[in-house]
Formats: sequence, C-alpha cells, structure tokens
Amino acid sequence: MSGSNPHIAIIPNAGMGNLIPFFRLASVLLSNNCKVTLITGKPITSMAEANHLNFFLTKHPKITHLEYQILPPEPNSKADPFFLQYNAVRRSTHLIHPLLRSTTFSTIICSFLGCGTIPRFAVEIGVPCYVFNLSSTKFFSFMMHLPAILKDPEISDKKKNSSFLEVPGLAPFDMSSIPGAFLNPKHLMAVDAMVNAKACLEATGIITNSFEWLEPETFSALNSGKVIGGTLPPVLPIGPLEWYEVEEDQTDCVAWLDNQPHESVVFVNFGSRTPMSSDQIREMGKGLERSGSRFLWVLKTTIIDKDEDRQEDVLGVSFLDRTKEKGLVLRKWVNQQEVLSHPSIGLFVSHCGWSSSTEAALRGIPLLGWPQLGDHSVNAEVVEKAGLGKLARSWGFGLERLVDGEEIAAKIMEMMGDGKLRSSAKKVKEEAMKATEPGGSSHRTIMKIVGS
Ligand code: UDP
Ligand code: UDP
Repeated sequence: MSGSNPHIAIIPNAGMGNLIPFFRLASVLLSNNCKVTLITGKPITSMAEANHLNFFLTKHPKITHLEYQILPPEPNSKADPFFLQYNAVRRSTHLIHPLLRSTTFSTIICSFLGCGTIPRFAVEIGVPCYVFNLSSTKFFSFMMHLPAILKDPEISDKKKNSSFLEVPGLAPFDMSSIPGAFLNPKHLMAVDAMVNAKACLEATGIITNSFEWLEPETFSALNSGKVIGGTLPPVLPIGPLEWYEVEEDQTDCVAWLDNQPHESVVFVNFGSRTPMSSDQIREMGKGLERSGSRFLWVLKTTIIDKDEDRQEDVLGVSFLDRTKEKGLVLRKWVNQQEVLSHPSIGLFVSHCGWSSSTEAALRGIPLLGWPQLGDHSVNAEVVEKAGLGKLARSWGFGLERLVDGEEIAAKIMEMMGDGKLRSSAKKVKEEAMKATEPGGSSHRTIMKIVGS
C-alpha cells in the first residue's frame, strides 16, 4: 500500500455491460483518493471493449492495468462469441490469483459473473473482498436461491406447467421471466450461477449497482437471510454509479438531437450484444413510422462489432426517404449516456440490460422494456414496479414471436402520451440522486469500502 491510501484491485468479467460499471466504480474510487489496479483478461472480444478500455486508461493514467492471458475458448463455433469469452474468463479465474498476491491490496472487488475462486483466495491472503453484482438485485436474489431451486428434480417441468417461482421473502417471480437455461442444472449458466452463489458466502460483502429505494423488499429479504435461509454477507447498494467521461460521441446524433423539441424523441437501443432479426427490423421500422414520433434508432444486425450490410439493404431506400425528416438510424456505437442526458429524449425502448436500466433511472427517462435474454425480463419488472417504465409483456421474451409494427406503434404512442409515467420516472431520478449524494445509501457503501 502506498501511504495510507487504500489500494483496490477491481476485476471485471468480459463485455461492455460488465466493463462500463467497473470503469464507473474505478472513477468513483479514484475521486475518493484510492489507488486502483484494474485486472482484465486478454484477448478481448469486441472493438467496443478494446476502444473503451484504451480510452479509459488514457484518461486515467494513475490506474495500474494488469492483464492475464485467458485460456483458449472451448471449441464451439455455434455459440455467441460473448458467451464463449465469458466461459473462457470463468475457466481462467485461477490465473488471477498470482496477480492478487503480487501486490498488497487493501480490498478486492470482483464481478459476480465468474467470481468463482476469488472470494476464497481473498480469505487465504487476508484481504477483504466484495463481489459486485451488475444485474438487478432482484435477479441476484434469484441466483442466490438457485442452488435450492435446482434441488427440485422436477424444476424443468415446473417451468412448463407453473406460472410462478417462489424465492423466500420476495413476491413470486413470473416463471416466464426466468430463462430456461437457469432451470437446467446441466446448463453452464446454471452451473456457473450456483458456483458464484456459493462463492459469495465467503465474501466480505456484495455490492450491487442499484439503490435501496428502487428495490426495498429485495434488499430487506437478502439482508434478513430469508432468500438463502441463512446468513449472507451484507448486500449493499452502490448505484446508480455515476458516469465517467467517455469518448465524445463519434456520430452526428447529438447535433441531430439538438434540433429536436423537448422530450419528443424515441430512442431505440438494445445494448452492446443484441442484434435484431431482419423481419423484426422491418416491423420496428413500421412501428416507429406509424407512431408519428421522432426517433433515434441504433440498429444492430450482428452480435459483435462490424455490420457489413448497407443501411438501405436492411431498411429499404423508401423507408429511409419517408422518415428522413423525423428519424435518424445509426449502425454505430453511440455514446448512450450522452444521448440519455439530452433533453429531447422522451422515451427509451430498451432490452433492459441492467446498465441501460440504471442509466435511464439516473436521468428519469421513461423506459419501454422489451427483454431479449438473461436477466432482462426480471430487470424490466423492477423498472416497471418502480414507475420508471413499462414492460411490453405481450411481446414475449427475445425471439419468442415477431412483434407487429402496429403493436409497436400503439405502445409507443401510449407511452409518449403518458404524463403520469413521465412524472414517476422523474421521481425515480430524484431518488437515484439522493442515494448517491453524501448521506445517501449508495454513497455510504462507497465510504465503507474506501475506509476498509
Ligand atoms: N452502450 C452505449 N452505446 C451503444 C450501446 C451500448 O454506450 O451503442 C452502453 C450502454 O450505455 C450500457 C452498456 O453499453 O452502459 C450496455 O450494457 P447493458 O447492461 O445495458 O446491456 P448489454 O450490452 O450488456 O446487453
Ligand atoms: N458494435 C458491436 N458490438 C460492440 C460495439 C460495436 O456490434 O460491442 C458494432 C456497432 O453496432 C457497429 C459496428 O460495430 O455496427 C461499428 O462499431 P464502431 O463504430 O465502434 O467501429 P469502427 O467503425 O469505429 O471500426
């Protein structure tokens, strides 16, 4: 340790939804006079990750960056490249141990995803270790209860036949919001969640990119031991994490937004790794056009990086021509935090990745949730319950069904005209800000970590 400044090692897993909150955490720690060492695996999967990592390190030269070579991915050419990477990082956790021994850290913070052996190793070397949950706390509570859920040999059948899933201390989960992979004890997602849930028991605490006001019953159920039927390390809110400076938007979207009226634009963006099928793109285009709203649509047709197709091949020249006065379609990475801060944004159509959901909360932007995979559906329920947005339940989960343009138009018009929702979303913003201000629950967690 240098002087009395705490030296904190932070260990994200792969993917933008993981890196961005860790970068935000790092900048909060730096502004509280901590030394920060960032530990990442290489190689990295996407251009977005490589670009953001480089930019972040350039802007924060005080951060020490340590890398470890991850094991080669298991051959499975059909799997999503982000999934392969996540699995490779998960299998490589032991390669982080020597790096954690190489310096005297005062605290270790690792991602829940793939945390595996790290909390136990931290106990061995006598360093406090926090596990960072990047999903909604509600989804985290489901994962913590998963070992008990999967003891039921008939759970897969229950997925087919029951509408609800019980997690003690919480209102029942809608069974349709839980992806089948988590209820199959042989699936990697379920296996890894169970390993990580067990690993959490050895951590000093769990931190979660959420705030008490947003998920009060969940924090209370976890912290009273109801969820796992025993004592869990304290589950502490830390969010929504404040934004750090990211590279200025490289597209022309901010200039375009500057010319749009207050709260008039529907912003459509499904995160860093969720493409849309060509049929659904056609219906989405129809929906946006029929809604009569202005729109900024970040269109993604591939899971990872480059979209090779030309705009007109995907959407048709006539669509682009008809909507050019009202809409802007981009096929690039946009600076989403800058877009969501723009006063012209009136609605965010989102897959409900948790980072996107917390960004909407911090800016009080009403969110139309259209979950695509993983935790999205449970996250969308949290968003809806808090009054930040609505979950488009009848649209199904991911590719379950093709959603018709007329339905999309009707939902957008309903939500753009919903003054009550606009006010309740602003209330969420006020509460989010209170949580992160001095004295707020999330601020207190940061002070606790910095002091440890
Ligand atoms: N993001 C962005 N620009 C884009 C797409 C995504 O800045 O064009 C950011 C977004 O603001 C969020 C993160 O990437 O911080 C995506 O994380 P999230 O958990 O919402 O979804 P994921 O990409 O993991 O599905
Ligand atoms: N992109 C992606 N995943 C990411 C980041 C970007 O699929 O994690 C896509 C993005 O939607 C766009 C393309 O990559 O289609 C180009 O991204 P970017 O502008 O970052 O790359 P560049 O054109 O600068 O090489």
